[in-house]
Amino acid sequence: SLSDKLQNVFKSLRSKGRLTEADVKTALREVKLALLEADVSFKVVRQFIKSVQERAVGQDVMNGLNPGQMVIKIVNEELVSLMGSETTEIALRPGSEITVIMMAGLQGAGKTTTTAKIAGKLKSKGRKPLLAACDVYRPAAIKQLQINGEKQGVEVFSMGDKQNPVDIAKGAVEYAKSHGFNVVILDTAGRLHVDEDMMQELQNIKTALDVDQTLLVVDAMTGQDAVNVSDMFNQKIGIDGVILTKLDGDTRGGAALSIKATCGKPILFVGMGEKLSDLEQFYPDRMASRILGMGDVMSLIEKAQANIDEEKARDMEQKLKKAQFGFDDYLESMSQVKKMGGISSILSMMPGMGNKMPDIESAIDEKKMGRIEAIILSMTPQERSNPDVLNPSRKKRIAKGAGVDISEVNRLVKQFEQMRKMMKQLPGMMGGKGGKRGKF
Ligand code: GDP
Ligand code: MG
Repeated sequence: SLSDKLQNVFKSLRSKGRLTEADVKTALREVKLALLEADVSFKVVRQFIKSVQERAVGQDVMNGLNPGQMVIKIVNEELVSLMGSETTEIALRPGSEITVIMMAGLQGAGKTTTTAKIAGKLKSKGRKPLLAACDVYRPAAIKQLQINGEKQGVEVFSMGDKQNPVDIAKGAVEYAKSHGFNVVILDTAGRLHVDEDMMQELQNIKTALDVDQTLLVVDAMTGQDAVNVSDMFNQKIGIDGVILTKLDGDTRGGAALSIKATCGKPILFVGMGEKLSDLEQFYPDRMASRILGMGDVMSLIEKAQANIDEEKARDMEQKLKKAQFGFDDYLESMSQVKKMGGISSILSMMPGMGNKMPDIESAIDEKKMGRIEAIILSMTPQERSNPDVLNPSRKKRIAKGAGVDISEVNRLVKQFEQMRKMMKQLPGMMGGKGGKRGKF
């Protein structure tokens, strides 16, 4: 299998230190195959490999990894960042304002099913969705939406199959206004192939009413076709996001990567089955692993990463004991905390710590972390390692450099002092003998 092949390649790469061009080339040859096998489009693969090649050569190989694994680690990070790094939500208007969502896509992609799935999600979040049966061409399309709507306990607006879709869409929005609905989802008609009639019809709906979100539904099983379809819909009518259906099948889902790379629109959800509960948020990191299809390599990499973190923690513990803990370490500890899922989860691992560090908790609030980072980065190395030298004029200079008010610098220094004091009183909390060993 591919995975075995990779392992063999990795075994033959023994050089330590920095990644050489040869290391990178050898590993990327396998990555390229993996991506093509996952149905990522050739053009995207070529671009991707080129950019990873440039990034990887000369990088340090992490302890515990061989060069091949190090390349995979970089590949994985690049895949995740290409797919958007984070999850994307449907943008909804506030309160009772009506958000109009138009579903688009080819026949059989999963529009009607997904319409009902999304309605269920919105309903469970306290929204009041109304579904509009705008597919007047396919026999039984209206009935199908009604059945699905009923299963979800969501009302379906229909005007039969003798009206045109634009009038139905308008009628649905009017109905929503007078009946207290705040989301209208338009289930439109697809065609077997991208054709002018379909595009024109969707365009007419967009012209006639205020569509907030056009969501394209594409079948992941169609592989590279999914990419072409996304590109065409985006060019013709403009889309805001994509839902990739039928990922419960055995496709590796390379389309997810190609779509994002080609038309730049985020994937919001993935369809994981025919049941109406089978709709999941799209997670770029999970998708990256799936596309690479290298589960065992990934878990090795995670382990190596954990070891590095542990080394750093031990190092930090030593510094703490010698009271050498400086702002650089503070910054480092913040980023570790972030990686491990927040300060609360770490505090809870420390016996007796419970809620004794509320100030620190607020300092590590994700939103504030960027500003704190800016402040620390505005300090000289000397100031970072020996905060005692921070006099008012230095603080003023730092505040200016970081673009924050001096009071914020003062607050950070105070919090830092508090943390240093508390840590000195708690020998062993960073994983000394005896006590429960946290990951910190
Ligand atoms: P539409 O023509 O775009 O409205 O597509 P439908 O919603 O009618 O779906 C077409 C077929 O695909 C139906 O049999 C659905 O049950 C099925 N389907 C939709 N989404 C998924 C999915 O995520 N996984 C699987 N396995 N089947 C799906
Ligand atoms: Mg349909």
